[in-house]
Amino acid sequence: MNTKRLIFIGVMLVIIGVGVRFLSPELSAPLQQTDKPMVAVSTFTLYEASSVITGDTLNIFPIVPLGSDAHMFSPTPVQVAKISNAVFFIYNGAGFETWAKSIENTLPKTVKVIDMSGHVTLLREQDDGAYDPHYWLDIDNMITMTQTLENEFSKRFPQNAKLYHSNAIAYIAKLQRLKSDYTAGLKECKNRTLISNHDAFGYLAHANNLQNVSIIGLSSDEQPSAKIIAEVIARVKEHGITTIFFEEMINDNVAQTIARETGAKAQPLQPLENISEDELKSHQTYESIMRANLAKLTQAMECR
Ligand SMILES: [Zn+2]
Repeated sequence: MNTKRLIFIGVMLVIIGVGVRFLSPELSAPLQQTDKPMVAVSTFTLYEASSVITGDTLNIFPIVPLGSDAHMFSPTPVQVAKISNAVFFIYNGAGFETWAKSIENTLPKTVKVIDMSGHVTLLREQDDGAYDPHYWLDIDNMITMTQTLENEFSKRFPQNAKLYHSNAIAYIAKLQRLKSDYTAGLKECKNRTLISNHDAFGYLAHANNLQNVSIIGLSSDEQPSAKIIAEVIARVKEHGITTIFFEEMINDNVAQTIARETGAKAQPLQPLENISEDELKSHQTYESIMRANLAKLTQAMECR
């Protein structure tokens, strides 16, 4: 084969290589960050707690893209390949990620899999007994998640155990202050009924002795029946409820309709299933978002 031809083929290969790196960021990103062990996590709360505990010692990879509806997500083959290169695959469980179990069975033994729902206190739905997966909204569960993550990371990387412990302790102290502000803020309220779009706030309501009413079920893709809509409208009128809460990353048409019908206000409440690009850019955290939620709740429920 003559030299000219060889040079031509060589140049073509370089061009293709560069093209792949820039055209598919998923393919390019891992290459740069693989010097640190990777931890693949499914939800924002697992992402934040893992990042806070480990500082910059590990590469925490959020599987569900920012701003997307976590209920509707399913991973691409590239993302699944990335998870199989991780040292941990940590997911929420309790039915939140329909895809997690199928991935779990395909992963190499080098990936330690943690289903966090096995470590926290779960609530079941009254009607069908299904587990409610939104357990991170009970601050006690968020503390347990942090302790579980600290233990797992310290076992795997004992050289960092001291750092992980002091980071976890500082984070838990913040969560405990947040919890006492919730307890104080929601202690005396004119009405204690929380009406939301999808059934994401059961744990928050249970932890703070509130009545939890949702228009659609546990998952964002369910459609409410006319009967349920009528019941919610009647309840709003009967109890003089001033606010219907909806989630910004999820379809809120029905919540808006009920608000119009009843004269109540429709207001976003963040269930922290995921956060948006803007929220990340403005350095929003579990604590700051939960505090914003608390301010909205105390106002809507006329708490003293
Ligand atoms: Zn949800």
